[in-house]
Amino acid sequence: MTNRNVLDTEATHILQTYKRTPIVFSRGRGIHLYDDEGQEYTDLVSGIGVASLGHAHPRLAAAIDEQAKALLHTSNLYYHPLQGQLAARLTELSGLPRSFFCNSGTEAVEACLKFARRYWHTEGDVSRTEVVALENSFHGRTLGALSITWEKSYRRPFEPLVPGVRFVPREAAALTEAISTNTQVVIVEPLQGEGGVRPLSKNIARTIQKACDDTGALLITDEVQCGLGRTGRPFYFQALDLRPDLISVGKALGAGVPIGAALVGERVSAAVAYGDHGSTYGGNLLACRAALVFLEELMDRGLLGHIVTIGALAHQQLQELANRHPSIIDIRGEGVMWGIEIDGNTDATAIVTAALKRCLLINRTAGNVIRLLPPLTITEDELSTALATLEAAVAEAEARAS
Ligand SMILES: *Cc1c(COP(=O)(O)O)cnc(C)c1O
Repeated sequence: MTNRNVLDTEATHILQTYKRTPIVFSRGRGIHLYDDEGQEYTDLVSGIGVASLGHAHPRLAAAIDEQAKALLHTSNLYYHPLQGQLAARLTELSGLPRSFFCNSGTEAVEACLKFARRYWHTEGDVSRTEVVALENSFHGRTLGALSITWEKSYRRPFEPLVPGVRFVPREAAALTEAISTNTQVVIVEPLQGEGGVRPLSKNIARTIQKACDDTGALLITDEVQCGLGRTGRPFYFQALDLRPDLISVGKALGAGVPIGAALVGERVSAAVAYGDHGSTYGGNLLACRAALVFLEELMDRGLLGHIVTIGALAHQQLQELANRHPSIIDIRGEGVMWGIEIDGNTDATAIVTAALKRCLLINRTAGNVIRLLPPLTITEDELSTALATLEAAVAEAEARAS
């Protein structure tokens, strides 16, 4: 099928919820993608933080092949050997004792919300009706996750949503006021992704943790984007000294195979009973096998340390880039998750377009921010080369704006 046909068929048959960049990719290798004419692109998006080992990773491909030939799926009616192994590895990383497996980040958030509610039902506390979320949050698009997502244009056409949600700015006084003995659960992205790559400060994190401790409210850290090594730490809550009761993960976990998980602490685990939640696909052999390969790379084969090294280099090079370009007003992030905030005179989208012309894939998040989410495996040379291309794109967009 030619490129044109792909676009035409989609235009006729795909529900039009996505405005895609008109490129057709069918092959990748490492940090590179190739379009249907063989043109090579450098991928600093990695399918929105999913292709954590890069594209067509040989160990992952071999493991998937082997698993497909043995057994892919049995449902959660029976045991298989991989789910418990994967959960045990996630406990090593997070310190939380139990996992519930599902198929996406949104489902992981939904599971966390349900388990938090279940906890208060088990406790018999009916006064706990509120959920506290932060301004600029993104937690997903299904009804529960959407209810705690900040962007109004995502929420408004689907109201009424789940009641009792309070969106709070990252200010100590507002948080202390909002988190009360009516709060079921507080949910935060320790490092916001879609909202513009905004880390929580240690001070605000301390305020949130103290308010949760004082009121008994549960805490979810949504680490679907920033967790599992992306910042050079297993999870970003660890950088902020938060003590989550629940953690949602997804994106990087399956390295391209869909899987999400709710990681659950002792207090909440004890309140969940048989039948409280379920998923047909959740944690099947294929997804667990892929996730085990990812965690082996991360934890046993040096990937976590590699991200720390790359993160230091990225920080230095991005800072230098910002020094040379007046349109760049802030650099935020850690490891291989970076936001480059652009001043109002230059449109971040113009930079994305100028980068695409140079076959560099980057994307834009809320607030005129360029986001870089390369595969965790990106090398120093690949990073330096990509940032040189990014600089040319920034220069072009600045020249157009002036
Ligand atoms: C992407 C994302 C989600 C939703 O994950 P999906 O896999 O798209 O369902 C939830 N929370 C955060 C923080 C995310 O970045």
